[in-house]
Amino acid sequence: MSHYVIDLRSDTVSLPTAEMRQAMFVAVVGDDVYGEDPTIKALEQKAAKLFEKEAGLFVPSGTMGNLLACMVHCHRRGTEAIVGDLSHVYLYEQGGAAHIAGIQLATIPNKADGTFCLEALRRKVRLEDDHEPITSLIIVENTHNICGGKVIPLEWLDKLAALVNGDKQLQPYGKRVALHMDGARVFNAAAALQVPVARIARDFDSVNFCLSKGLSAPVGSVLVGSEAFIRQARRLRKALGGGMRQAGILAAAGIVALDTIVPRLREDHQKTRRIAEAIHNAKSPNVSVDLATVQTNILLIHLPNPKFGATAFSERCSEVTSEELAAGVYASHKEHGIKLKVSARDWQFARIVLYHQISDADVDLAIKKFNYIIRNVDVELAE
Ligand SMILES: *Cc1c(COP(=O)(O)O)cnc(C)c1O
Repeated sequence: MSHYVIDLRSDTVSLPTAEMRQAMFVAVVGDDVYGEDPTIKALEQKAAKLFEKEAGLFVPSGTMGNLLACMVHCHRRGTEAIVGDLSHVYLYEQGGAAHIAGIQLATIPNKADGTFCLEALRRKVRLEDDHEPITSLIIVENTHNICGGKVIPLEWLDKLAALVNGDKQLQPYGKRVALHMDGARVFNAAAALQVPVARIARDFDSVNFCLSKGLSAPVGSVLVGSEAFIRQARRLRKALGGGMRQAGILAAAGIVALDTIVPRLREDHQKTRRIAEAIHNAKSPNVSVDLATVQTNILLIHLPNPKFGATAFSERCSEVTSEELAAGVYASHKEHGIKLKVSARDWQFARIVLYHQISDADVDLAIKKFNYIIRNVDVELAE
């Protein structure tokens, strides 16, 4: 007896496609620490070209890519990097910049759209003062995960670049503060804006993007930047234990991801919107979404009633009750019903994330289940 499971917890659970597995099977590989893996080189060059940067570096994870960017841009002792207070780098990377690289992370409040106040940023960059750390780096996350897959507006990126390039104060000790983009899902931003990633990355010294999220590849990220930047990052990757040998097997899947999954990311966005609209149309006081904020493949579901918060919602999604089966909610999967896996972001927000393997039929089933749960919960909570 088995339930049909639709896993919407994260796009990291996406699986490699048949085409990726085939490419992995036949990949020509060599020892990449010796610089002899042609498939890794091909991926790195392809990524650099897409972003219009000089070079690329294949790394095991986004966490390592971001840490390397911090280490290279903040190579002097006594430096700090400015990050959003809701950023992945600050919240979910163990403070690696501090505990591994000795870099202070200074936070700036993220706005709901994933940006931050540029005037506050200007004030936050330290003056040349022997009491203070040297501000060396600003990190922008795009799309913004915690803020619900928000696309950082191009106009804001342009203003940020103008500020960093133009304002003398942002050049402590004669060196311009560097810009790094945590672009784990930057291809989703490009798909939503319908611009090339190179446009988004234009004024950034470095960008890290993940192959293992909505791009569906099994492992890895690619860090791109100038030749000199990547040279240092490559050196430091070895120190972090990220010098991989015949990892062209993994890079092969990454190449297929760029060729075959990237052009289809908008489909994930459309599916996300379809679910968002269904929940919105249910007009429930207990389970709602803000349609205006749905931009990419991440959907935050608001559960404002403390009696039915995100954990309760998530539990309800992952169980199949006998009433549900008796009610004949699903035409297919009649016998065992379906389970939805969703994650609880905090007590009042659940999060779902769409990706390549979630089909239109899965979306239909998920909507049926959400509607069923909402109808029942609304009745229960009204009693
Ligand atoms: C997933 C993610 C990363 C990196 O994660 P890894 O699991 O280390 O690959 C970085 N930033 C954001 C915004 C992410 O979503």
